[in-house]
Amino acid sequence: MVCHQRRRFTYDEFNAAVDLMARGLMRRGIAVGDRVGIWSPNCAEWVLVQYATAKVGVILVNLNPAYRTSEVEYALTQSQCRLLVAAPTFKTSDYRAMVAQVAPLVPTLEESIFFESPEFDGLSDPGAVTAADLAARGRRLDPFQPINIQYTSGTTGFPKGATLTHHNILNNGFFVGELCRYTEADRVCIPVPFYHCFGMVMGNLACTSHGATMVIPGPAFEAQAVLTAIAAERCTSLYGVPTMFIAELEALDAAAVDLGSLRTGIMAGAPCPVETMKRVISDMHMTEVTICYGMTETSPVSTQTTFDDDLEHRVRSVGRTHPHVEVKIVDPETGEIVSRGVSGEVCTRGYSVMQGYWNDPQRTAESIDADGWMHTGDSGTMDADGYVAIVGRIKDMIIRGGENVYPREIEEYLITHPEVVDAQVIGVPDARFGETVMAWVILRTGSRMTEEELQQYCRGRIAHYKVPARIAFVEEFPMTVTGKVQKFKLREMAQEEGLRSQVTDDRDAG
Ligand code: AMP
Repeated sequence: MVCHQRRRFTYDEFNAAVDLMARGLMRRGIAVGDRVGIWSPNCAEWVLVQYATAKVGVILVNLNPAYRTSEVEYALTQSQCRLLVAAPTFKTSDYRAMVAQVAPLVPTLEESIFFESPEFDGLSDPGAVTAADLAARGRRLDPFQPINIQYTSGTTGFPKGATLTHHNILNNGFFVGELCRYTEADRVCIPVPFYHCFGMVMGNLACTSHGATMVIPGPAFEAQAVLTAIAAERCTSLYGVPTMFIAELEALDAAAVDLGSLRTGIMAGAPCPVETMKRVISDMHMTEVTICYGMTETSPVSTQTTFDDDLEHRVRSVGRTHPHVEVKIVDPETGEIVSRGVSGEVCTRGYSVMQGYWNDPQRTAESIDADGWMHTGDSGTMDADGYVAIVGRIKDMIIRGGENVYPREIEEYLITHPEVVDAQVIGVPDARFGETVMAWVILRTGSRMTEEELQQYCRGRIAHYKVPARIAFVEEFPMTVTGKVQKFKLREMAQEEGLRSQVTDDRDAG
């Protein structure tokens, strides 16, 4: 492991550090199945805690570093954490101060320990707990016991704690690494957050199950730091959500960096625009880049493209079903499997499906049916060769006057304009059509393109009902920490914009 904190571990050193912390946890009386929270941006400590807790059968509760007090209080209370480990501060986040507020409100929480403190060093003090004691604990563990809870935030209701076992995530990480063809010669740059499966499973577990090097370029995503780390560490693989790759390509345009060591990588989490994919392959040398699709509840990956899939499959599909996993596409109304090429809800079954939502049998039953199928809420298709394509979230689909409009298609088109950096399409209420298309667009620095000009670019090139009725320009999209655009926020923003223009109109009229 190579970390932005100027820390390096060989596998031997890493293993020794993990064992010491695992014994330290045992010394504190942390038992199999106890919950330990972690609240921090990416750092070496995060990875040590991940492996140390797994080694002693403790359930690690990942807390989003962007959480604030009410969210952390909810997650710690809902998962009944005994111990919390956290970064002291990061940028504007004063974790110490927030923990001081929250800790007294969480009945089960016994102690909070911050990185870079004597208390944290003490966590690796094994006391009288020997290596033999640790080995004995290991023999008691069962692969089907949970070791991880990840809170997934829906757009409504409290977050749900997806509960994952050793068997879930270790296997998923392993197969992701297999499809990337990792060996001990690989050096994987991981700028995606550890609190999410993309970092801790597809990143850390894929690396450690193949002897590859984990390269952690920074505490949080920063395009320039990623490029610098790739060049300095001669990384062979790079991860990111599409918006990260877009930012990296922009940084690359501004100042050339030698990315010749890159071979592969993973793009996931959201649909990848065609233009971005082309440039990732040509300008970033990632000829074997793969696309993964999945969700936290499925450990996360369910489908992946292979190193030799052609461009068309990398941009039009999310690959084929992962080894030992089943995927089916069903009519959301009837539950029947639809014909090849017809869209329906994507469902996944197999070893990778979570145990359930922590302490929430009702919402678990709403997501995983009696036959073990996880209903993803994504709408997709499967072609005759088994390639799955995601057309959108079932609820993201825009229905304009009876025409089904999938935002992705329009986003793909808008981004082909040379002055458009990124685009997000949503449905907005419309008196005539019920719903109509609106686009939020990020333009290249210095561009003076107008709404009308961009609409003109669409007219005649995409179906009339897909041409955004409204286009608004922004400098950035509201994002989750995992780099997913929060479309519900864009909808709220659209509503606010609408109200504001209404007021202006009134004033103008008056
Ligand atoms: P999360 O649980 O945060 O990992 O989010 C999972 C959701 O991200 C899925 O249900 C999809 O809606 C979306 N997603 C993940 N990977 C892809 C992909 N490759 N293409 C399109 N959407 C994706």
